[in-house]
Amino acid sequence: MVIIMNPDATQQNINDVIEVIKDVGLEARVTEGVQQKIVAVIGDKSKLMPVPIDAMTGVDHCVAISKSYKLASRESHPQSSVINVSGVEIGGSEPIIMAGPCAVESREQLLESAEIIKSGGAQFLRGGAYKPRTSPYSFQGLEEEGLKYLAEAREKTGLKIVTEVTTVEAIEKVAYYADMLQIGARNMQNFGLLKEVGKCGKPVLLKRGLAATLDEWLNAAEYIMSEGNPNVVFCERGIRTYETYTRNTLDMSAIAAIKHLSHLPIIVDPSHGTGKWRMVKPMALAAIAAGADGLMMEVHPNPAKALSDGSQSLTPEHYRDVMTSINKLAKFIKAENLLSFVED
Ligand code: PEP
Ligand code: MN
Repeated sequence: MVIIMNPDATQQNINDVIEVIKDVGLEARVTEGVQQKIVAVIGDKSKLMPVPIDAMTGVDHCVAISKSYKLASRESHPQSSVINVSGVEIGGSEPIIMAGPCAVESREQLLESAEIIKSGGAQFLRGGAYKPRTSPYSFQGLEEEGLKYLAEAREKTGLKIVTEVTTVEAIEKVAYYADMLQIGARNMQNFGLLKEVGKCGKPVLLKRGLAATLDEWLNAAEYIMSEGNPNVVFCERGIRTYETYTRNTLDMSAIAAIKHLSHLPIIVDPSHGTGKWRMVKPMALAAIAAGADGLMMEVHPNPAKALSDGSQSLTPEHYRDVMTSINKLAKFIKAENLLSFVED
C-alpha cells in the first residue's frame, strides 16, 4: 500500500503517518514526487486494517498496490521520475548517452576514449574497472587503478562516470570515484549486492539479467529502493533466447513495458544487446524511437586491439556518426511530439 500525502502536508503529518505504520510493526519509506510526498508501507498491509490512515491529517488517499514491487511501480508514483546524476537528468526531455570502452585497459586508452566520447556529445563515460568475465582467465579489470583513471578522465572532460560494481566489498571504492554505480546483468539478482547499493545512496544503473523477466527486473529495482535509494535507472541489454546469431536478443518491447509498469527511466545498451558493432546504430535509433531515455554504447579507440568486447565496440568515426543520427532523430521526435502518448 502507498499513502499519498496532500501537497500541503507538513513534515509532522508525515512523521505521524510513519509512526502509526511503525506501531503495527511495518516499515515506511518516503519518496518525494514533484508535487506530492508518498509514504510506502513495506510488509503485510492487513496489519494496518484497524487504523483509519485515510482520516489522518495531511493524507490525501491510500492506494493498494497489487504488485510485489511497490516503490518501483507506476501505481505508486504516476508521474515519471527524473533521476539526477551529478547534475545530468536521466528521464528528462533529452536522451542521455553513456559511452566508452568495455573495460578500462590503461591510462592512455581511457583518456583517449574520454576525449572521443566528449567530442561526440555523450554525457557519461563508461568503462569497467571490475569486469565480470565468463572465464576466470580473461582480463578481470584494473580495479582501483582503473577507477582513478576514470576520475581523472572526469576531471579532464567533465563527463560523468558510470562503472560497474561486482561485489559488496568494492561498493565504497566505486562510489567514491564514480557518479553512478552499474549493476551488471550477472548480478541483477545478487540480492545482497542490491541491498548494499541501496544503502550507499549513489544513483544506480540496473542492467537486465541474462534471462530475467520484467517482473524479476522490477523486483531487483525494488530491492535497491526499499533500502532508501530512489535513484534507479533500468538498462535493457538483451536476454538469452534460442537465437545464436546475435550475442543476446535485444528486447525493444521492454522499453514500452517498463514505461507502463514503472515511473523509473530506462536506457538501452545495443552493444551487449547484439554483440555486433554493425547492429549498434540501427538498434540505437530504434531504442530512441521507442521512447528510451538514453543509450549505453561501447566505443574503443581501436576495437581490434580491445581486451574485451572489441567486436561490438564502435570506432571513434562510427561513434560520432551514430551520435549525429541520434541527435537528429531525438530532435525530430521532440519537435513532432511523436511519443506523447507513451508514458501515462
Ligand atoms: C558492461 O556493461 O560492461 C557489461 C558487462 O554488461 P552486462 O552486465 O550487460 O553484460
Ligand atoms: Mn562489454
